[in-house]
Amino acid sequence: MNWITNYVRPRINSIFSRRETPENLWQKCDECGTMLFHRELSGNQNVCTNCGHHMAITPRERFNALFDNGIFTEVKVPEPLADPLQFRDQKKYPDRMKAAQKQTGEKEAMLVATGEIGRTPIVAAAQDFSFMGGSMGMYVGNAIIAAAEEAVKLKRPLILFSAAGGARMQEGILSLMQMPRTTVAIQMLKEAGLPYIVVLTHPTTGGVTASYAMLGDVHIAEPNALICFAGPRVIEQTIREKLPEGFQRAEYLLDHGMLDRVTPRTKLRDELISIVRLLLGMPQAVKGDLAPPEPTAKPEATAGK
Ligand SMILES: [Zn+2]
Repeated sequence: MNWITNYVRPRINSIFSRRETPENLWQKCDECGTMLFHRELSGNQNVCTNCGHHMAITPRERFNALFDNGIFTEVKVPEPLADPLQFRDQKKYPDRMKAAQKQTGEKEAMLVATGEIGRTPIVAAAQDFSFMGGSMGMYVGNAIIAAAEEAVKLKRPLILFSAAGGARMQEGILSLMQMPRTTVAIQMLKEAGLPYIVVLTHPTTGGVTASYAMLGDVHIAEPNALICFAGPRVIEQTIREKLPEGFQRAEYLLDHGMLDRVTPRTKLRDELISIVRLLLGMPQAVKGDLAPPEPTAKPEATAGK
């Protein structure tokens, strides 16, 4: 019987698996089910071209679309202690980290960079939901502090893209300590008189909404993003009542005064440029009317002229 399991079955499997859609070419929209050509989808920043559903986007993809010509410089984040609690659930924490690093190609759940948007120098930080649910651990805390310090040093505004399932349980109380730490970091920006803009993306939940994600001067969310401290299921079970339609989604929070804007991802860049320049007292950039920068000229000198 061995030849059946060892030879025939793999042959049959390979014939059938060949008929499946190659993952790298097509992606199915989770919302409307349309098959989207991969290149078309990434060209539209992972927003479905049929129904406008916002799919996940990695910090690197986001920065490529955000910064002028996709050019940015990464800001170094100090490494925290690895696995201080020697935590283990079904797997050891270092093993989970290694798996997440392999899967995402990133070191941790937050990427910090400097660059220009519409010739406006900024510092940006983006959280990576695909890296252990974007969970806020010591590294994320360090990343936000590094971003705030860089912004103060360079006198630039900070734009933060949040996406998190909450604190990282593998770091226990140390992850919760990132709430006051990041709050102090944001306070540094306020004292320096620098704008801090938060873009809340799907999903932003838990301790992140109880600290840096809710301390912005301007709060913008992507459409239909879930933004909450405790999730709808937990609330429903606790109060034993049916929650209203769209509860804790971006549009609902906008209606109830928790947000300033709900902006589609494809329009976000232009809006961020306008807001940042407005808050910095810079003239508004005129689209298509910007001369290429001189290699030696300062960005501020050429912008908006
Ligand atoms: Zn769709």
